[in-house]
Amino acid sequence: MKVKKLTFDGKGEIGGSNYCYNGTIGVDHGAIQGKKKISYPAPNGVSPLVVIASHSHIDHIGGFACLAKHRPEAKFFMTQTTLDGMILLLNDSLKIARSQAEFNSLKGLPSEPPAFEEEDISHVESQTEIIKNIGWFEPVKGYHLSLRSAGHMRGASIELMVTPDGTRVVHAADISVEERALVRGAAVPKDFLNPDVLVIESTYGSKELPDLKGEKDKLISVTKETLKKGGSVLVGHFASMLDNIVIPLAEAKIQVYVDGMGRQFLRIYAAAKNWCPEDRPFSLSGYDNVHFIDPDRGTATAQRKKLLSGKLKGAIVCPSGMYEGGHSVTYIKQLMESRKNTIIMPGFQADETQGREIQEAESGDLIDFKCERVMKINEKKEAKEWHEYRRLNAPVVQIKYSGHSGGDKMAKWVAELNPKKVVTVHGDPEGHEGLKDRIHRLNRNIDVVRATGETIKFSFRS
Ligand SMILES: [Zn+2]
Ligand SMILES: [Zn+2]
Repeated sequence: MKVKKLTFDGKGEIGGSNYCYNGTIGVDHGAIQGKKKISYPAPNGVSPLVVIASHSHIDHIGGFACLAKHRPEAKFFMTQTTLDGMILLLNDSLKIARSQAEFNSLKGLPSEPPAFEEEDISHVESQTEIIKNIGWFEPVKGYHLSLRSAGHMRGASIELMVTPDGTRVVHAADISVEERALVRGAAVPKDFLNPDVLVIESTYGSKELPDLKGEKDKLISVTKETLKKGGSVLVGHFASMLDNIVIPLAEAKIQVYVDGMGRQFLRIYAAAKNWCPEDRPFSLSGYDNVHFIDPDRGTATAQRKKLLSGKLKGAIVCPSGMYEGGHSVTYIKQLMESRKNTIIMPGFQADETQGREIQEAESGDLIDFKCERVMKINEKKEAKEWHEYRRLNAPVVQIKYSGHSGGDKMAKWVAELNPKKVVTVHGDPEGHEGLKDRIHRLNRNIDVVRATGETIKFSFRS
């Protein structure tokens, strides 16, 4: 009788996703996002030298430039869309870190230099091998991998792996089984049924999410009603997920104005070649009612003025950044004061952010916008902080447009895959318990544990 062995390292919580198999193959190297602070995992001696990036969300890829800086020999594997999205977000993180450092040093506060520089981002690019299809590859001798669609966003993957002793592993974080604008839901990989171990996210393990189709209909009908009565609509969401807002609105013949990084992400998605059967063909040329705010500062300011004054009418779609900074704040401060306008919030707003404050406010409440900026006064740079107050009169409409699936749908996917053992990650203890109960309702024999941050050791007789 042969004994197969596997070790797994990773923690259960959301944020800073870093996972490792047999100390050899890593999946993701994410950053932890706190309020006005982002922390990077310390690339210590145990970081694997081969890391797969599952998708370009900062909690999964924010640490790649730090890893490339401290372990220049490390090699990375991912889809082209994930790499392009990662480069965009790492450059944006660097820009934010620099302006935060400048602000703090002008204020006389402790200021840390950025954790990485442009050359480290370029090094990530040069150390990356692009995975162009679902075929098998061997990033380390004896380890065979195949990436499949995660359905979470364009380019996102789940990882199938066979280790040198034949242990079969599926890594699935983040994943969705539902149809979205540019990618169909994750399929159950039929050539990889009954794996030894499945590592899977439990973000919504204890909750159900509304049907995406219903939420899409609500987005379109609320937008149309507001435009009909002469108002404007602001939709703020994660930049990488804006395709799920822009495409349905454009297909409903609404004029859509896309600002900020939403433009770059849509261009990345349009340029990407399909790498898996779940990708939906996409080109921007079919949408002449989708308008991009120009990258030129002067032209952009003029366009934004027209949108805010109502000279240009339509849905303004802008990365929200939880309404903590950027152009979304310029839009919301002005649009929220009129009852004619509507603010649509499709996503999660973290605790203690301005987004959460607006989400929880009642009509007529005064919202306190805390502003800070480095300004040039008499040729001298100064760090300025001030408060601006705006009354919330526009209705705030919540739609649930998550890139994840609810507990029941996840459990069904797990039961169909039929792993021997499940390790949940990327969720709170409640999410773990919820997903475990739902899996056990379908199949009692699947062992479900939550990752603890300690090494988990498996052994299987075969
Ligand atoms: Zn994600
Ligand atoms: Zn995530």
